[in-house]
Amino acid sequence: MSKRRVHEIAKDLGIDSKDLINTLKDFDIPVKNHMSSVKEDDEKVIVEYYREDKEKKEEPKQEETKKDVPETKDSKNESSNKRQKTSKKHRKEEETEEKEDVIYIGDEITVKALAEKIECPISEIVKYLMLKGIMATANQEINFALATEIGLEYDILVEKEQEKDFIEEFFAADVEDDTDKVKRPPVVVVMGHVDHGKTSLLDAIRQTQVTEGEQGGITQHIGAYSVELNNEKITFLDTPGHEAFTAMRLRGAMATDIAILVVAADDGVMPQTVEAINHAKAAGVQIIVAINKIDKEGANPDRVKQELIEYGLVTEDWGGDTICVHVSAIEKTGIDQLLEMILLVAELGELKANPKKPARGTIVEAQLDKGRGPVATVLVQNGTLKIGDSILAGTTHGKVRAMINDQGKRVRTAGPSTPVEILGLSEVPSAGEAFYQTSNEREARHLSEKLQSNVREKMIQNTPQKVTLDDLFHQIHEGEMKELKLIVKADVQGSVEAVKQSLMKLSNEEVIINIIHGGVGAINESDVMLASASNAIIIGFNVRPESNAKVTADREKIDVRLYRVIYNAIEDIELAMKGMLDPIFEEKVTGHAEVRDTFKVSNVGTIAGSYVTDGKIVRNSQVRLVRDGVVLYEGALASLKRFKDDAKEVATGYECGIMLEKYNDIKTGDVIEGFVMEEIPR
Ligand code: GDP
Repeated sequence: MSKRRVHEIAKDLGIDSKDLINTLKDFDIPVKNHMSSVKEDDEKVIVEYYREDKEKKEEPKQEETKKDVPETKDSKNESSNKRQKTSKKHRKEEETEEKEDVIYIGDEITVKALAEKIECPISEIVKYLMLKGIMATANQEINFALATEIGLEYDILVEKEQEKDFIEEFFAADVEDDTDKVKRPPVVVVMGHVDHGKTSLLDAIRQTQVTEGEQGGITQHIGAYSVELNNEKITFLDTPGHEAFTAMRLRGAMATDIAILVVAADDGVMPQTVEAINHAKAAGVQIIVAINKIDKEGANPDRVKQELIEYGLVTEDWGGDTICVHVSAIEKTGIDQLLEMILLVAELGELKANPKKPARGTIVEAQLDKGRGPVATVLVQNGTLKIGDSILAGTTHGKVRAMINDQGKRVRTAGPSTPVEILGLSEVPSAGEAFYQTSNEREARHLSEKLQSNVREKMIQNTPQKVTLDDLFHQIHEGEMKELKLIVKADVQGSVEAVKQSLMKLSNEEVIINIIHGGVGAINESDVMLASASNAIIIGFNVRPESNAKVTADREKIDVRLYRVIYNAIEDIELAMKGMLDPIFEEKVTGHAEVRDTFKVSNVGTIAGSYVTDGKIVRNSQVRLVRDGVVLYEGALASLKRFKDDAKEVATGYECGIMLEKYNDIKTGDVIEGFVMEEIPR
C-alpha cells in the first residue's frame, strides 16, 4: 500500500504544505511536518475534500468580488458601510458555515446580550443608541424593533424567537412524504442472560462477515457495526445488555428493529432472559430467538423452547410464529442462518428511510477522548450525514469534523442505518439521545441552547406523567389510564409468583393490572429503565434497590415500593385502585328538623324556626324540604343558627334557625331533612 508524503500531496493540490497540515489536523489525521506520510485512504478523503471545497468556493466567488461595493444582499442602504466591513471580515473567517446571519431574540433583549449575539463590542451598540438619543447601559433592555434596526447595521437579520416545538418538528419530519424512501438495513440488538453468549455471538457475526468482506480490515469497536450477507446489510448494536437498549427507548429514540434473544441451550430461560423478553415486548420490537451453545454436551434446545412458551414465545417448530435458530458462537455454526432470518424479518417489516433528507438518528455511545475531544458513535436513522454537517445532539452541538466507520476507515457520508464515529461535537452527548442535522452551526447552537432551557421543560411536560400509587386517582381521572403496569422483584421466585398471582386478581372491568416484568433479586437499573419507559410502578419484596437504581429511580421519578409482607402490598394497590375506579356514592340521612315558625326578613329571605327531631342538622350538608311527603326543594343550607350565632351542627332536641339557599317558600309544619353523600368502598 503506497503512502505519500504531505508535500507531494500538497503540490498536487496546488496548496501550501502548511495549509494541508492544518487541514489534515482538522480531519484528525496525525501528521508532524511536510515529510510525514499519509495513508492512501486518508489521502483520498483529503483530495476529495479539496475538490469539493474548490467547487464550493467557485460559486460564492462572484459575491466575493463585489467586496468593495457596499454589501448588496439586495439593495441594502450604504450608510453602514464601515460596520459591514467588520462584519464581513468576521464572516469571512467562518465562511462556509454561516451565510444566513439570523439571530433570534424575544420581545426584549439587553444591550449586552444583543452584542453577544451579533458578536460585536457592547460599546458599538451603546454608541449607536447614543447617536439616536438613547442613553443605554450594557444591562439596559431594548425592544425588538430597535434590536432589528441595530441588527441591520451589522447585516444581521433579527427574528422573533418562536416557541417552536422542536421535538414535535423532529418527529413531524418522520411522517412527511414517502416518495424518496428506500429500503434500509435492519438495526439489530442482542439481548439475553449473562454468560449465555451475547458478546461471543456478536464477535462471531463480526468475524465471519469481516473475513469474507474486507480482507485484512481491522475492525474497530465503535459500539455498532454492519455486516453484509447476499448483498444485504445488517447493522448490529454492539452494546449487549438491556440498559443500553432501554436507555435509548427511554429517550424516545427507538433505534432497533429486531432483538436477538440469546438463550444458552445448556442453561435455559434465566431471569435476564425474561427481562430481555419483557424489554423487547414493551418496546414492540421483533424477537428472534438464538439458542446458543448448541455444541455443548448438556445442550437441550427443546427444553429452552418449552420454557419460552411460558413467556409467550412459541417457536415455529412448536406451532408458533417465533423464529428460532440454533447457533454456536464458539464453533460459528448457524450464524449465516441467523443472519438470513434477520433479513427475512426485516423484509417483512419493510424498513425504509429517505437518504436525501437531513440526517437524524441516535447517539449509540459517546466519550471524551484525550486527543480527539468528544467522540460519539451515532446511528443514522434517516437522511445522510456528511462531513461538515452541523448537528444538534441533545444539548450539545457541533460540526462533523471527521467520520470513522466500523472498519476504522474515514468516510465522508453515512446513510440510513449506518453507524459511524463522529468528531466535532462541543460536548459529550448521552447515549440514547437523538441527534439531528441543522442548516448551519448557528442554528445548531441556538437549538441546543433552547433545548437546555425551554424544550427540556417541554420534553418533561410532554412525557406522560409517571404513575405513582399516591396519585393514581388523579392520573386515571385525567389521563384515562386504564392499565396499571407493575414490575415485581422479590427475594425468591416463590414470592414473585405469589405476588404476581394475587396482584393480577385485582384486575377488574375498569383497570387491568399488567405485571410487565417479574424477577428475583435486587431492583436494578434495568428494572427502573423498564419502569420509566413503560410507565410502571416497581414493587419489591424483601429486596432493596441497588444504589444506581435508586439514583435513576429518583431522577426518572419512578415509584418504587418496598414491602416485607405480601399482604401489605396487595392492600396498598387495592386502596390505590379504589381511586382508579369511579367512586360510588350513597346518600346518608343525618337527621330531621320540623319547621315551627317562619320569619320573613326583607332583603334576606325566610328564616325557618325549626326544632331538630332526630339525628342532627349539619351546616355543610345537603338538605331537602318536604311538605306532606313531597320534596319541594333539594340543595344547600344558606345558614344555620342557634340564636344569633352560626352553628356547625345542631343536635336532636334543639331549636335553630335555618335558611335555604335561594329558596324561601317555607311553611310551618314542613320537614327539613339533612343528608350527605358518602363514598362507598368497593
Ligand atoms: P455474555 O455474558 O452473554 O456476553 O456471554 P459471553 O459471550 O461472554 O460468553 C460467556 C461464556 O460462554 C464464555 O466463556 C464463552 O466462551 C462461552 N460461550 C459463548 N458461546 C458459546 C458457544 O456457542 N459454545 C460454547 N461451548 N461456549 C460458548
